[in-house]
Amino acid sequence: MLKALAVMTSGGDSPGMNAAVRAVVRRALDYGIQVYGIRFGYEGLVTGGDQIVPLQWKDVGGILQKGGTFLGTARSDRFRTPEGRRQATLHLLEREIEALVVIGGDGSLSGAHLLAREWSEHVEGLGRSSPAGEVHPLQVIGLPGSIDNDLHGTDMSIGADTALNHIVRAMDDLSSTAASHQRTFVLETMGRHCGYLALTAALAGGASWVLVPEEELELRWHQKMVAALDHAREIGRTHQMVVVAEGARHPDGLFINSNEIRKLLVDRLGIDVRVTVLGHVQRGGSPTAFDRVLATRLGVAAVDTLMQGPEGVHCHMVGLVRNTVVKTPLSEVVEKSRAVGMEIENGDYARALSLRGGSFRNALDLVKTLTRISPAQETRDDGIVVILTAGADAPGMNTAVSVAARCLLNEGIRTYASPDGFLGLIRGNLQPLDWHQLVGWVNRPGSEIGTARYEFREGDLERIAGTVETNRVRAIVAIGGWGTYRRAAQLAESQDRLPALRIPVVLIPATIDNNLPCTEYSIGTDTALNNIVEAVDKIRHTAGASRRAFLVEVMGRRSGFLALMGALASGAEKAYLPELGIRLSELNQDLEHLRTSFRQGKRLVILLRNEHSSARYTTDFIRSLFEEESEGAFQVRTAILGHIQRGGIPTAFDRILASRMGAGAAGSILESLERGSARCTVVGLSGRGIREFPLEEALEQMEMGEGRPKRQWYMDLVEMAQALAKYGPSRSSSS
Ligand code: ADP
Repeated sequence: MLKALAVMTSGGDSPGMNAAVRAVVRRALDYGIQVYGIRFGYEGLVTGGDQIVPLQWKDVGGILQKGGTFLGTARSDRFRTPEGRRQATLHLLEREIEALVVIGGDGSLSGAHLLAREWSEHVEGLGRSSPAGEVHPLQVIGLPGSIDNDLHGTDMSIGADTALNHIVRAMDDLSSTAASHQRTFVLETMGRHCGYLALTAALAGGASWVLVPEEELELRWHQKMVAALDHAREIGRTHQMVVVAEGARHPDGLFINSNEIRKLLVDRLGIDVRVTVLGHVQRGGSPTAFDRVLATRLGVAAVDTLMQGPEGVHCHMVGLVRNTVVKTPLSEVVEKSRAVGMEIENGDYARALSLRGGSFRNALDLVKTLTRISPAQETRDDGIVVILTAGADAPGMNTAVSVAARCLLNEGIRTYASPDGFLGLIRGNLQPLDWHQLVGWVNRPGSEIGTARYEFREGDLERIAGTVETNRVRAIVAIGGWGTYRRAAQLAESQDRLPALRIPVVLIPATIDNNLPCTEYSIGTDTALNNIVEAVDKIRHTAGASRRAFLVEVMGRRSGFLALMGALASGAEKAYLPELGIRLSELNQDLEHLRTSFRQGKRLVILLRNEHSSARYTTDFIRSLFEEESEGAFQVRTAILGHIQRGGIPTAFDRILASRMGAGAAGSILESLERGSARCTVVGLSGRGIREFPLEEALEQMEMGEGRPKRQWYMDLVEMAQALAKYGPSRSSSS
């Protein structure tokens, strides 16, 4: 049984590191393990003394939403020497620390790996082995903390999502000023050898050109870029944006400088060009909901791995691969993470690109399609594909429409919108979608083509069949939630009766509620989650010195996703979920908890309640109950977040998800048309990839009476949320 562990943050800081430390500390205390925090990374470990401090439950309260790292981080030259590492060993031995959790980038993880490898040598050198010559090993767990997202063994590193959102928001802001002044911007992103940030920002922000380190540029790449930008200006695009990763290189291997691009464009085109180097802004600020949840999951997994892992000494990194926690030997992480940089250094770009994996390659291809000035293929006159958005709007719908339509137009397929969901099809009112018009849609809120909630009435299916026939509609892409799935099923069921409806239909899941089968996330969910988390952060700020319990009601229909993830990401003490319902005995327990903790000095407690977690124990009922029974220990306030949750500009995650699903839907349609198939399918995010499922499978996976899928992956996180949010550890004596 592990008695003591130490946790540190090291190297470049990244948003979410605090959330990871909080999770490690609380999970470990819960197991009864003593926890030390090491200040300023390896420098603190080498220094020892007051740089290694015991941490209690409350020490990591209130840090979840903060950027940076409260432990401090540093680069340490002393730790790079064997003497430094020997000192570090001594300081761990003195405190009987048997495990070290390091949150950082590839440098920090290399350091951890080295220390683990040399451990017994240092222990013996210090004369600390047992009389029999035995050495208690050091267990090491690394967590990926880096905005660059350049680590092998995890799909996302802690901080990358926040950095990406900073870049994408900057692109949105620059677009408006660029359009006003007819200016071109060159935007430089961080990322070292990794083009992830630049590439995904180019996709999510609608860039005109992107330069990443992993791609070998042609000798005359600048001529192509200049010609493309010139052409775009000629056809009336008011502004353009070139995104350059800091590690992008010329064909000769020299780094590309943003000012060089500016000069090139000014000289060749005589246009107004400005350079924006985002720099450290990308690292700063409060972490996004995604980063908070990722960091929390990985922090908990680090301790669980140490506790539950098979016999033997751990020297691993824990990461999230296909939405599952996976541990990878540190040696492999270090070696493979470095490999891409080395291939680039050696000029083997093809290998560098293949090491990044299939989804990186696909994203690069997609950006290249979307940045085209005009479609690759001549438009054919063999019918049309119709795209529609139906049901309640969800942030990211426009991105999905824009990308799906452009992928189809690029193949020469005429693409039309059905305004206001299925109503356009019913009324025979279809509007052509134009390549140039679609370019600016990636970041727009709501739905440009209009959306409507609508149940088919008598004669509607016949009317749709009529429209399909008259307009030679060859396929439909429908973007929406469960109502849209049901409408699509009705269309499919009518195929025998109405042969015109024997056409392929592809559904793209878009709803903030994340209550759909066959996908882990639906479009709009991430934006809604961030809206909730920002609102709860603000509520925390208003609390001041009062003793208050806030009951915050969130959406989600019959899915507890938003309430649960909102609680995990905002550090709320409780989430009431429709999957679990609410019992009176539970409310009694919660009340008891509230009374005790407020009496012990707690100032604020946040409870999240999903709108449908109980039909009778409503938000208002719980407020009255708690207030009546508070015995003067606290007050209760409610906040019903309502439509604020669905509003706003889509987050980077939603735009990327929508782009990938839009491209996936277009690919599916093209395939069906080629095969002459009239299948009805759903695209979904399953693990890391976009996959396609038959609509029947989606219908089967739905728990009809409950209005949510039979299996929801996020319910696996309930235990973790409960363990981290309560007021103190369950087994240790400290509180
Ligand atoms: P990051 O972890 O963000 O990649 P660095 O590369 O600067 O940041 O590494 C952070 C610290 O980790 C370094 O200052 C050093 O103390 C330690 N470190 C990095 N690489 C090694 C190594 N090969 N051997 C020993 N320590 C290392």
